[in-house]
Parts: sequence; structure tokens; C-alpha cells
Amino acid sequence: MKVIIHGGFFSESSTNAETKLAKQKALERIVKQSYTFLKMHSALETVAFAVSQLEDDELFNAGIGSQIQSDGKIRMSAALMDGTTQKMSGVINIEDVKNPIQVAVKLLDYDDKVLGGEGATEFARKNGFDVYLTEIPQRRAEYEDKLKATGTGTVGCVALDNNGRLAVATSTGGKGFEIPGRISDSATVAGNYANAFCGVSLTGVGEDIVSNATAAKIVTRVTDGFTIKDAFDKTFAELKEIDGFAGAIAIDNKGNMYHQDSYPSMVFASFDGENFEVFE
Ligand code: ASP
Repeated sequence: MKVIIHGGFFSESSTNAETKLAKQKALERIVKQSYTFLKMHSALETVAFAVSQLEDDELFNAGIGSQIQSDGKIRMSAALMDGTTQKMSGVINIEDVKNPIQVAVKLLDYDDKVLGGEGATEFARKNGFDVYLTEIPQRRAEYEDKLKATGTGTVGCVALDNNGRLAVATSTGGKGFEIPGRISDSATVAGNYANAFCGVSLTGVGEDIVSNATAAKIVTRVTDGFTIKDAFDKTFAELKEIDGFAGAIAIDNKGNMYHQDSYPSMVFASFDGENFEVFE
């Protein structure tokens, strides 16, 4: 059993040592709780559990603490994918729900699996997700100062369970200051993808991630026989060719956990019951 999580990027220039320590502590708590949860649950249930905890923590740009778009509203995106069934569901630009990932979980039972905008928000209301304002004062202050947030903080999780099943989930408040209607990579196969061989979750500039088809490419390469490291190296080399910016976490079906980024400060943590690793 393995769990790896990420919380986007950490920017030394826009954050401080205190925030860094707080993020390390939050990631340690959440990855260890998620591992305990995984002992009694599937990989799919666990990635939803882990991402919900990350959404609830205002240190990260997903759920509570999401960034504000150019028109002053928060629109969030989240998706999850079961590597065994290869079913993916998600919400794009949903408003005023506490846990977008849980709406994505609900959609797994439907034929229509990815909903956007008002349709996603309406679906959430009909399914008992109450109105919840995810704005925090710090994000409003950043918005008002027109400080383009550089710390991002999208969240994600990949898990491998006792039965060898993989799953992935990703959730984001977006880039901040985007044009309303902009589509994030997080609820696409570029930002969130899994099959029976590998699961990958991304953070970074959504446009770059979509152009590079990062998660789907890494997973396909591992499926076709690349080692997880070679799959990452080739895909990140291609990302560099387009001057792309991203970070990714992954687990393959042999239990290898991996992470890489185009800028050395993706915030992540992993745990397999014995070995714990956190970003430094
Ligand atoms: N990938 C997210 C997006 O472009 C942002 C992030 O990872 O911070 O919407």
C-alpha cells in the first residue's frame, strides 16, 4: 500500500518559513491519515478522502482557500479516476461547494461524468451539497492587491491499495485572476489520469499541462514498458521544449512512487507504512 500527495508549488519569494513548515506538517498529517484510511478502503475511496482533507485546509488552493478569478468569483475544478475501471469523473468551474472532489465522486454513478459551470453547481445542489463559501480573507486581499499569486497550491493524491488497484484525484482553485470560463487541466486527462499500470496527478500551469498531455503521456509510457523514471524524464523533457511549468506525482502498479517538477519546490509527501518523505 502506498500513498503520495501534492499541494502545488511552494514559492520562496511569495511565502515564508512559517508557511513552509505549516505545509510540511499538514502534508504529513494528511498522508499518514490517508494511509491509515487505505488499510480499510480502496485506492479510489482513499484518493477522494485525501483530496477532501487537502481541500479543507486553507493552506492549499483547492476547496477552502481557492484563488479568485478576474471577475471576483471562485470557480473550482476537481476530478478522480479509478485505474481499474478507467472511469473518470469531474467538475469544472463549480461554485460554492466545500468539497468539489466529493461532487466528482457522486458523478461516478452517472453516465454523464464530467460537468461544467452552472450545470455542475446545480447538480451539486440537487445532490445535497449545501452552499459553502470557500473564500478566505487572504485570497481576497491578494485579489484586491492584484497580486498575481505565484504559490499556486493545487492538490492531488495517487494511491495503490492492498488489491493492487491504483486511483488518482486532483482538485484546484485554478491559477487565480483567470478569465471566467477558463478550463483548468485538473479535471482533464492531462492533469489527472490512471489505469491499471500507473496513476499521475499534476500541478502547474494548466495550459502547459494540457499542451503536453502530461498525465496521459506518463501513464501511456509506463503501460508500454517505460520505467516510471524514464516516462517522467521523457515527458518532462518534452514539457521543457514548450517552456512548460509543472510538477507531478505518480505510483506504478509495482509500487514505485515518483515525483518530478520543472521547478524544484513542488510541495508533496508520501508514505508506505514505513518510509515517510516530505518536500524540503
Ligand atoms: N494546474 C492548475 C490550473 O492551471 C493550477 C495549479 O496547479 O496551481 O488550473
